[in-house]
Amino acid sequence: MNTVTLFKIIRQDDNGNRFVVATKLSEQSADARLASFIGHKQTYWKEPQTYEKSYCGPCAGYGQVHQMMFVGDMATTQPVQCGSCYGDGYTLREISDAAHAVR
Ligand SMILES: [Zn+2]
Repeated sequence: MNTVTLFKIIRQDDNGNRFVVATKLSEQSADARLASFIGHKQTYWKEPQTYEKSYCGPCAGYGQVHQMMFVGDMATTQPVQCGSCYGDGYTLREISDAAHAVR
């Protein structure tokens, strides 16, 4: 299975409630985000999250889909950025910790 590890940032407030404030960050981006929170009263930290990486269905991994256009009476197709993966060509599905433990 093709997996990718990215990071999420968690914030914990004074009552112990946890909130996910950012997801799908590279470790570098997560560290930069955490650095920007230094001095805040509340606690922030990063946690790794594992995603299963698979080719995008609508564009089959190309990142573009062909859209029908009319130029006068002529129908032509034009490549446009895939709306499902935003041009990345793949989709990420988070693998939950529970599912991960079973494997
Ligand atoms: Zn796509």
